[in-house]
Amino acid sequence: MTKKTGRCLCGRTTFTLTDDNPTVAICHCTHCQKQTGSAFSIVTISPRDRFVCAGPLKKFNDIGESGGAVSRWFCAECGSPILTEAAAMAGAAIVKAGCFDDTSWLKPSLQIYCDSRQEWAPLAESTANFAKTPA
Ligand SMILES: [Zn+2]
Repeated sequence: MTKKTGRCLCGRTTFTLTDDNPTVAICHCTHCQKQTGSAFSIVTISPRDRFVCAGPLKKFNDIGESGGAVSRWFCAECGSPILTEAAAMAGAAIVKAGCFDDTSWLKPSLQIYCDSRQEWAPLAESTANFAKTPA
């Protein structure tokens, strides 16, 4: 399997994802909007044991819109969001996809929490779109 490498903005946090074909999703939830300071997150979803990370990470203990615990890991040096672990998706590594060194392969297949999507944000017909999450 191919290793996909990534790093934070300052470069002190680096990671490797070993997954040929991770699910790529756009999340419009209000927490992702806050954390990224943007309109949505683009993330990859893979088994947690495929993700290896090194660097000065810090964790913010969040509560997701589903009510479950969400761990939001970010670089303690530059603040780049890196990894999310959610009780609602136990065993998954949710990686902030903009941090990959090569982002050319990213092709979102689903969009979630569309009920909090900013109106101008495009909803591609090529993605499966959910008001919240796939049940
Ligand atoms: Zn950093």
